[in-house]
Amino acid sequence: MPRRKKSEPGVCPQCGTKVGDPDRTWTLVSPIPDKKGRITVTVMGSFTCPNCGYKWRAVLSKIKTGGDEGAGPEEEPEPREGEVIEIDLDEIYKEVGGGGPS
Ligand SMILES: [Zn+2]
Repeated sequence: MPRRKKSEPGVCPQCGTKVGDPDRTWTLVSPIPDKKGRITVTVMGSFTCPNCGYKWRAVLSKIKTGGDEGAGPEEEPEPREGEVIEIDLDEIYKEVGGGGPS
């Protein structure tokens, strides 16, 4: 893992003002589970700096759920077989051979 400078999510990246609580929080759920079948839920927050008005979003926390940490058998998800859908194209418009008025 690359060494990253630990920055607090509630600190304005523009001026460094410490903003307490985020204006809004929401969660992002990863649609793909990891190797151990766990789903990563990322908690995001949007902040507005009261000092300079800068708005930004930051990851508040990441939660892994859906699997047992450590012990437990590794369950591999069953590979889904691709379904082949065949469309019948035999049905074509037939010209109606109606006898017109002569
Ligand atoms: Zn600021």
